[in-house]
Amino acid sequence: MSANIICPNCKSENDCSELSREEQLVLYCANCDAEIGEVVPKTILIKEFFYFLLNAFIYVLVIGTSAYAFENYNELKGITGFIFLFSFFLGSLALHEFFHAFFAYIFGDYTILDKGYLRLNILKYFYGPTSFIFPGILVLFTGVFLPGAAVYLRTDLIKYRLYKFIVNVSGVFSQAIFLYFIMFLINSSSLNYSNDFATLLHVAAFIQLTMFIFNLLPIPGFDGWNAIFSLTSERIGNFFSRYLFLPSFALLIYALIFIEEFNFYFLDKFNTLEEMIGLNSDLIYIGLDYMMIIDIDTLVSIRIWLEEIIGKF
Ligand SMILES: [Zn+2]
Ligand SMILES: [Zn+2]
Repeated sequence: MSANIICPNCKSENDCSELSREEQLVLYCANCDAEIGEVVPKTILIKEFFYFLLNAFIYVLVIGTSAYAFENYNELKGITGFIFLFSFFLGSLALHEFFHAFFAYIFGDYTILDKGYLRLNILKYFYGPTSFIFPGILVLFTGVFLPGAAVYLRTDLIKYRLYKFIVNVSGVFSQAIFLYFIMFLINSSSLNYSNDFATLLHVAAFIQLTMFIFNLLPIPGFDGWNAIFSLTSERIGNFFSRYLFLPSFALLIYALIFIEEFNFYFLDKFNTLEEMIGLNSDLIYIGLDYMMIIDIDTLVSIRIWLEEIIGKF
């Protein structure tokens, strides 16, 4: 705890150098009574770190076990392939939100600790129905279910624009790490795994690449948008994010699915990117089958049905 805390409410300085660190307690401004910080004993931080390790271990265990079962029990491939890809995705999503929270915490948002955001527990990062409604709609088009996640941060407690920028871009550090790790597995010549497992790795990498690109798009509500506006005007950025996040996200999805020129352009750019980092589109296509919870035939009939409905408007 730094000796002096500037109150974010009335800007007066509070001397906190005399406080003991024995027990957790919230600090209030001596001048205006606003909450200005929190004293946290080391034991609590160690406990949070232990939770982090425990949760990280659970992801590794599930991912590792499903990979082992995939390679050794042929009849279970459908389900173990799905569990492998889905738990890999959830682990990377949890780490994404963890990075946002971790940097917000060290840059001044003391409320992070009590929210449990430093624990890597995926359940802490889901934010109610919105985590599932949009992904639920997307399943009808893609057959793939990828839930969303978010952390609530108090950016007003973070002093510098550069710090806020780092908080916003730090989420995709997770995708960079996961992608680097999978590409290592894909390119390693000393590892032995089946061709089927190779398709899983290519899909896992494809999902990380997609998460990386999409999160950094300058679209209201996305990390890329927030990062740009944290450097310029956070207030304007947040205003548009609040009102335009859902409409612009819906528009993007609509364009990707129903506007062919846009779809071709985007896929073409994406394919180039895949090849650049050493991914194989054919293997991705084959591997995606393990991730799909609705089969192609059903998807086609859903699409025809939806196009008919949209055509009526
Ligand atoms: Zn104050
Ligand atoms: Zn993010």
